Amino acid sequence: MRRLAVLGFPIEFSRSPAIHNTAFAALGMEGEWSYEAIEVPPDRFAERVRAMQGEGFVGANVTVPHKGAALLVSDRRSGVAREIGAANTLIFEDDEIRAENTDARGLMEALPESPAGRRALVLGAGGAARAVVWALTREGAEVSVWNRTGDRAAQLCAELGGEAVSDPAAGDYELIVNSTSVGLRGEDPFDELPLSRDWFGFSQTVVDLVYGHGDSKLLGVAGEAGATVVDGLEVLVRQGAASFRIWTGVDPPLDVMRDAARA
Ligand code: NAP
Repeated sequence: MRRLAVLGFPIEFSRSPAIHNTAFAALGMEGEWSYEAIEVPPDRFAERVRAMQGEGFVGANVTVPHKGAALLVSDRRSGVAREIGAANTLIFEDDEIRAENTDARGLMEALPESPAGRRALVLGAGGAARAVVWALTREGAEVSVWNRTGDRAAQLCAELGGEAVSDPAAGDYELIVNSTSVGLRGEDPFDELPLSRDWFGFSQTVVDLVYGHGDSKLLGVAGEAGATVVDGLEVLVRQGAASFRIWTGVDPPLDVMRDAARA
């Protein structure tokens, strides 16, 4: 059995085991491949990862709060993971730990069209925002970054590109990505973020990376105004699909994974 896992703290609500195990079953691979959730506190992370290859694991996903530590524990890092400064995918091979980041690819594959040449507003300057800004600037979008703590937005832009803004102007953006954690505990994005309910319209795409607290209020308002909306589960499925391809070399069944994520 080739074992995979997602490592996080906490991890009980992760959709990743359902997404991957359902895909293995759909492809008739469930006898050979399995995917589980492992809760590991930050002070045990490196030790836990180093033990995995000896236990039959061939790879892992890594989520909050371990994405930075995953990069540090690895022996080899992809250019994407190094530049973003975080890894969400580990590959265990030949006594080596390789680090990759599929969050950026997951976002790009979830977008309905290329962001090249589009004005984009990224909200947030944490780990998720780093992957978003990396992907959008590399694809040729004109990226503005707003963050509650302005200095972090300035720092992120200095490292990865984009322009830090303190007061995003209404109607200026064709693509808006919420990569803050606002909404995770039911917060109202229109109270916490510099967004107005009358900003949205047909020519926009709005992405909310946050999932797990019912329907996104942000996407509800944007969708009603005619914007194209992409939710956090779609991005999660796409990054999972990219990791699946890396580990197995097989094209994953996206519809099956989507249904499992939303079940
Ligand atoms: P993080 O590193 O902890 O960053 C949190 C960000 O949210 C910071 O920019 C923080 O601003 C901001 N923030 C928190 N509370 C806020 C508030 N009340 N008002 C305004 N801004 C606030 O977290 P992360 O790893 O980037 O993750 C962010 C979210 O994305 C999480 O909900 C995570 O689950 C989600 N995510 C989804 C996917 C996916 O595949 N769908 C992938 C990755 C992450 P300050 O700097 O001012 O504190």
